[in-house]
Amino acid sequence: MPGLLRFVMRTPCAAMALGLCLGLFVAPPPRASAQLRSLPGTEAGKQQKPFRWPEGKRAALSLSFDDARLSQIDRGLAVLDKCGVKVTFFLSPDNVEKRLAGWQKAVAAGHEIANHSLTHPCTGNYAFSLHNALENYTLEAMAKNLDGGAAEIQRLLGVKPVTFAYPCGQKFVGRGLDVRSYVPLVAERYIVGRGYLDEAANDPAFCDLAQAAGMGFDDMDYQQMLKLVTEASAEGRWLILVGHEIGERGHQVTDTAALTALCQYARDPANGLWIDTVEAIGKYIRQQRAGAIP
Ligand SMILES: [Zn+2]
Repeated sequence: MPGLLRFVMRTPCAAMALGLCLGLFVAPPPRASAQLRSLPGTEAGKQQKPFRWPEGKRAALSLSFDDARLSQIDRGLAVLDKCGVKVTFFLSPDNVEKRLAGWQKAVAAGHEIANHSLTHPCTGNYAFSLHNALENYTLEAMAKNLDGGAAEIQRLLGVKPVTFAYPCGQKFVGRGLDVRSYVPLVAERYIVGRGYLDEAANDPAFCDLAQAAGMGFDDMDYQQMLKLVTEASAEGRWLILVGHEIGERGHQVTDTAALTALCQYARDPANGLWIDTVEAIGKYIRQQRAGAIP
């Protein structure tokens, strides 16, 4: 037996060292593409079909209104129906009862009726939510709040909501080390979970539909709204706008004149926009990603 081999056979540590050295020479260097494939969250190496909006459209737009504010029925419905667009209303059940006949008309007109939780919990840092603060919730309590909201909508309007908007756009429960995201509760129940006060429109090929971005359009004039739409359109995105009251422009009020002009722009075929509910566009994105739509 040659001297070196004899030495290796007697000393396990040296045997391991030799093995490692040989391994370095034998094993091929890792390829960049393989490294990328192994990184979580990357799609490298996967042949993805480019995302396509239907009928040659360039981008998509959803208009949504939260909290079942009374002006949505008193002022908004007539404006929207005249424009001929379908929007998504994320309802707070307490307010629905104050305009029940109006909400029944909204259902009959084909607007989407969606969930916004039973009691609208937000951070207790907002004074209105101090006694209904996300910091004091558990995931179990939040799940009950989500399901309670949906059950009330079903009881009042006979509609089972399939999309959800996070109250105040906030997605957590608890404090500090005990903070938990409640996005998974939404992901297992809804086609889309919509955020609020986000800063970009959604990339339809990539975005997480359980936390789709929503951008405010209260207190804007038409030019400001149009800027958001044209920026989203240039990148082929899905813009979800979020409003509250509908009336004369102001804090948490979407302006009726600007809204009318925006709807006309969105419906003009020359602008290449698909305007529809959060449900309709969310479903299309899921089907397109699954390859169900050529
Ligand atoms: Zn709200």
